[in-house]
Amino acid sequence: MESRAHEIRRNIEVVFERVRRAAERAGRRPDDITVVAVSKKFSIEDIRRAYESGIRDFGENRVQELVGKVDRWAELYPGSEINWHMVGHLQRNKVKELLGHCSTFHALDSLRLATALNQRAGGYSEVIPCLAQVNVSGEDSKFGWDPDDAESAVREILNHEHLQVIGLMTLARPVDDPEHVRPEFAKLRRLYERIQSSLSVKFEVLSMGMSGDFEVAIEEGATHVRVGTAIFGERT
Ligand SMILES: *Cc1c(COP(=O)(O)O)cnc(C)c1O
Repeated sequence: MESRAHEIRRNIEVVFERVRRAAERAGRRPDDITVVAVSKKFSIEDIRRAYESGIRDFGENRVQELVGKVDRWAELYPGSEINWHMVGHLQRNKVKELLGHCSTFHALDSLRLATALNQRAGGYSEVIPCLAQVNVSGEDSKFGWDPDDAESAVREILNHEHLQVIGLMTLARPVDDPEHVRPEFAKLRRLYERIQSSLSVKFEVLSMGMSGDFEVAIEEGATHVRVGTAIFGERT
């Protein structure tokens, strides 16, 4: 049987190759796209294996799991170059735990959360790079702002001195054919451009696309794709 290290390495090579081709189709540089390996439910050993295959960005969707892994990693591999992304919804009563544990928070989804984060971060003199989450699919089950409200939300977030809003994030609808979510990605991209020009801000991160649809997301302008299953396999 193939070793776990081999399996993860091969998966990552395939993902990088798919990223490269999608970038090429869109006339973009592959280096401008960051693969965030979503390691939720996978072990620190698997994270190490992915790290050794060239991944430097990891994402978690639960703050407790994130904190556990960040602290463990720092103990095992102090001083290593690694970026941790919180990609899932954060409850206001868990804001404190996030501090000092993530380089980018992808799921800023309400002004109440922004206020809570800003207050906490102020106490630690931290500035948290955040993405405003936009619900482009319009599903009730999804967190995030309605596209029509995103600009005013970003304008409000800009008033929080301990938050730095560096872009937008979305979760597309789950579909069998990724072509079906292309319009959602295109819509977020347009919003990304429009908000920058109307508010005179400079964004850096457009976080969209997962295992099933990251190539379409790259063709539509994603700078960060969040890939779990295609790297680590199915979560059980
Ligand atoms: C789990 C998760 C992903 C990765 O999903 P895959 O389909 O396994 O690639 C991406 N984004 C968020 C917010 C997630 O929770």
